[in-house]
Amino acid sequence: MIVDFHMHSQCSDGQLVPQELVDLAVTRGCAQIAITDHDTVAAYAELDLQSQPIRLVTGCEFSTQWQGREIHIVGLNLDLQAADLLDGLASQQQARSQRAERIAVQLARHGFVDAYAGALKFAQGTSVGRPHFARYLVELGAVANFQQAFKRYLAAGKPAYVRAEWATLEQVCSWIGAAGGVAVLAHPLKYKMTLTKLRALLTVFKAAGGSAIEVVSGAQQPEQTRRLAGLARQFGLQASIGSDFHQPGQPWAALGQVAPLPVDCDPVWSGW
Ligand code: MN
Ligand code: MN
Ligand code: MN
Repeated sequence: MIVDFHMHSQCSDGQLVPQELVDLAVTRGCAQIAITDHDTVAAYAELDLQSQPIRLVTGCEFSTQWQGREIHIVGLNLDLQAADLLDGLASQQQARSQRAERIAVQLARHGFVDAYAGALKFAQGTSVGRPHFARYLVELGAVANFQQAFKRYLAAGKPAYVRAEWATLEQVCSWIGAAGGVAVLAHPLKYKMTLTKLRALLTVFKAAGGSAIEVVSGAQQPEQTRRLAGLARQFGLQASIGSDFHQPGQPWAALGQVAPLPVDCDPVWSGW
């Protein structure tokens, strides 16, 4: 059974609209998916949840900060009406738009005076984020491609990088808990932490109410999957699977084309 509990639609920085994601998942043979846009659950308002050919689990990818790093938590199986969740998402959206305004100020210092308006065109009604600025810089011809926009201007340590004031790990886990959901540490290897640091993060995450990690994230090496399964076991965490799909043709993983969990894992969906 193929499951994929991490993907993005046009409601954040993905390329496909929510129903296109569901249709693609059906084509790929997925039995269950979750659409996990960055700090928004708008995708679920665009879908007819009663008439989908596969199981659609509600989800969201939250940005948090921990020890000066940006950490992502996927919330799954959320009650989308929960007041704490909706309040939390509103404050995250505010943090996102404040960051976008500050990025625009930095880009103006480098001669890109209309960056906010330029990025807004690409945001298609969602809040402006770094990918939208990147696409604007490409359109201007200021950089050769999307990746170069990050390398020169938008990535951490570059001139237009601005750290967003995201909620803490504890706050995000409490919103997810209040919505009856499961908090999953997203793409644990993407943070490039030492094992000691990753263990410290997992300890804090578990104490905050986190109960699962992505043992499979995108197209990773079998050795990495085994390592993450080992950590899940040691910390008593359930295991999730996610491609982190954003657009067709992306290098790291296609929707639904993810390895199965090792047999000794406790799947996050086992009790659903
Ligand atoms: Mn993204
Ligand atoms: Mn992420
Ligand atoms: Mn993601």
